[in-house]
Amino acid sequence: MALALACLRVTLPAWPAAAARLLQNCWARVEKALPSDLSAGFPGPSWGAAALAGQGPAGLPQPAVPGCPDGLVWMAAPKNRRTIEVNRCRRRNPQKLLKVKNNIDVCPECGHLKQKHVLCGYCYQKVRQETAQIRRQIGKLEGGPFKAPTVETVVLYQGEVPSAEDQGKRIVERDRKRPSWFIRD
Ligand SMILES: [Zn+2]
Repeated sequence: MALALACLRVTLPAWPAAAARLLQNCWARVEKALPSDLSAGFPGPSWGAAALAGQGPAGLPQPAVPGCPDGLVWMAAPKNRRTIEVNRCRRRNPQKLLKVKNNIDVCPECGHLKQKHVLCGYCYQKVRQETAQIRRQIGKLEGGPFKAPTVETVVLYQGEVPSAEDQGKRIVERDRKRPSWFIRD
């Protein structure tokens, strides 16, 4: 689409005459209240510049904005209006519409819907919670950081006895039934 450059004139906010007078009065009072030796070397505000910025007509030179020469900002702007048909063709383009998913399956463990070849989110949360509890129990067993033994750890659930392969390993006993997804190897 063709773009044209629009010219925007930046003007400072209007400065009402009443507010300017009020500020001048306040500054006069401050100068009176200050000791004479202190106020002598203290430059007052430039009232002329403020009046020019607020009340000057558009033809007069405006004060320069920092980082913006001549008070002008160049911005991109559309040159022509786009019709509603063009807009709708763009918005309702088939590439932009949501795709229908055909790879939804039922989780064999919990029955929740999940994507095929993707781990079930509901089951994964259960795995994370159980793992966190096991870690907490191991932390209590060790009683502090850097106290982990150099032997392997075996997690046993209710009604399970350590096998011959588990001799010499650290055994963590959980007081619940073994979850179906946590296979004992
Ligand atoms: Zn599941």
